[in-house]
Amino acid sequence: MKKLISLSLLLLMPFCMMAKEVKIASPNGKLQVTVNDDGGFATYSVMLNDQQVLLPSRLGFKADFADFSQGLTIKEDQTGTFTGDYRMWQVKQSSIRFKANTLSVTFENVKKLQMEVDFIVEDNDIAFRYIIPRPKADNPKCAVITKEVTSFCPNEGATTFLCPQIDPMKGWERTKPSYEEGYRADAPMNTRSAYGQGYTFPCLFRLTGNAGTSGWMLISETGVDSHYCGSHLSDYQRGGYQIAYPQQGENNGFGSTGAQIALPGATPWRTITVGETLKPIVETTITYDVVMPVYIASEEYKGGRYTWSWLIWQDNSINYNDQVKFIDLAAAMGYEFCLVDNWWDQRIGRDRIAQLSEYARQKGVSLMLWYNSNGAWNDAPQTPRNIMHNSIARDKEMAWLQSIGVKGIKVDFFAGDKQETMRLYEDILFDANRYGIQCIFHGCTIPRGWERMYPNYVASEAVLASENVFFSEHAAVQEPFELTLHPFCRNAVGTMDWGGVIMNKYLAPDNKGRHSRKTTDVFEIATAFTNQTAVQCVAVQPNNLQDVAQHELDFLKTIPATWDETRFLDGYPGKYVVLARRHADNWYIAALNAQKEPLNLSLNISAFNVKNLLIDEVNKKGLLTGSNILPLKTDKKGNLKLTVQPNGGAVLY
Ligand code: CA
Repeated sequence: MKKLISLSLLLLMPFCMMAKEVKIASPNGKLQVTVNDDGGFATYSVMLNDQQVLLPSRLGFKADFADFSQGLTIKEDQTGTFTGDYRMWQVKQSSIRFKANTLSVTFENVKKLQMEVDFIVEDNDIAFRYIIPRPKADNPKCAVITKEVTSFCPNEGATTFLCPQIDPMKGWERTKPSYEEGYRADAPMNTRSAYGQGYTFPCLFRLTGNAGTSGWMLISETGVDSHYCGSHLSDYQRGGYQIAYPQQGENNGFGSTGAQIALPGATPWRTITVGETLKPIVETTITYDVVMPVYIASEEYKGGRYTWSWLIWQDNSINYNDQVKFIDLAAAMGYEFCLVDNWWDQRIGRDRIAQLSEYARQKGVSLMLWYNSNGAWNDAPQTPRNIMHNSIARDKEMAWLQSIGVKGIKVDFFAGDKQETMRLYEDILFDANRYGIQCIFHGCTIPRGWERMYPNYVASEAVLASENVFFSEHAAVQEPFELTLHPFCRNAVGTMDWGGVIMNKYLAPDNKGRHSRKTTDVFEIATAFTNQTAVQCVAVQPNNLQDVAQHELDFLKTIPATWDETRFLDGYPGKYVVLARRHADNWYIAALNAQKEPLNLSLNISAFNVKNLLIDEVNKKGLLTGSNILPLKTDKKGNLKLTVQPNGGAVLY
């Protein structure tokens, strides 16, 4: 027996001796990544304040020319630093500075082929990617990555806030997947996803429970462009969540699920944001820190607010006279844009759209026009079709758009996350920039660093957006849950076109029929601050000029759409959120409460120059009577007690 033990020890010895470990810590030393090649597997693990937040998780991939998923040894490692200082116009912060420590680890597989893993570690953020050199013989010069084993294994007991990946070619006119599925909050990790297809990015975890950890973690990816596919996470399995590529059926089955890259080449960055609180999650800029602009802006793009007839008046409003009403409404509110939705080419016509654009221009408003992204891969019937996915038709169209003064397009109904589709996003953006046109995407994927990569990219839907509040009463009931969740996940990694501060009491053109809105007016107004997109929809209706309280209308005229700074103050995903945002010298603090009980907040607002409070008013029985603007009263130290009503809100400014 003794002999057997020593023999097996001897057998194990070579691997034990060979196992190598390298570490990198953040500039403040609190976040630490450990990379290991134990047993021939490349792994990384993460500690925050000496607590293990990510258990050893796999690194590696399989390519057509080599297997980098096993039989790996660390050959070399190199540390360094990385700093950045840049400006953004369409995200949560305008001037961004960061510093990071870096680690590059070179692994060699059994055939002596190499892959490198690059880590960038900021105080609360980690980004990593694979660099694939050409083999020594200089061939191949290109590769297909067929599968990654990259995984993320949060420590035991973590709970999840995740959005399921849906099966392809499902839903209305076979337009899925489009990142429009419902989130589940605080679910155990081993819960099966709704469709068994895993989860779309970003993925939020609460680190708590039996492992003794506490904190929050957000996992996503950035830097995905025409050179790679978009990824998501698998269902939870032994070893954690694994990077999953698009499903074969996306794009009506056309195009590959993996990635085709030139060698030497790099994969996109995968990002992990970790904090003791939700503050680093809300305020993270890692999505933008590690990418670079891929072309130069052809002009200075500007944000603004827009009116949108389609949300409540729907397809019937796509006619010249109704669009005039929404242009007049934008002008009355002092808003910069008016979005004309689907079918405009047929129901208004191109000549009349040119006239409408001129009418808008005279009122100081710019038009944005809707487009179908295809049509070769789903059945969405709306026109204009067959333009945006063809470079010849697209170029001609954009020249025409510029000639009639259209400033933006909203392109809808994309077809999943295959590299094919990523190319299309990039091609549309690049062409649009040549004609000074900014882009909003709907029925689409999440942006992955695109705000910095593409200067005319504004926002994506990629969320169960306001249209659902119109479509179903259930979604209206869910709205407060959704909007207190997204600052911590979807909107933390990219601008989000929710599509509207809704001021109608009822989701009907006459403001009477159909189901009611479940939120207070102040809740809705506060979402203009908690939802972040540089071209913000304020879905006011012409009737709101008469039926909404004057002080609310007046305030809506003043809301900014672009931000210099964003700070997390308080919140819990799906329950409530309190954020502060600064535009120029003006701070705004916005709170939303999605809970059934009034929310009592204790805030210290001494750091913010705010004087007024827009708040819901209730009578002695707790019934809503309207809203009011009051002078703010704090103690000498700037402490404030504030009660936010159920499905209600507050704005301090
Ligand atoms: Ca949609």
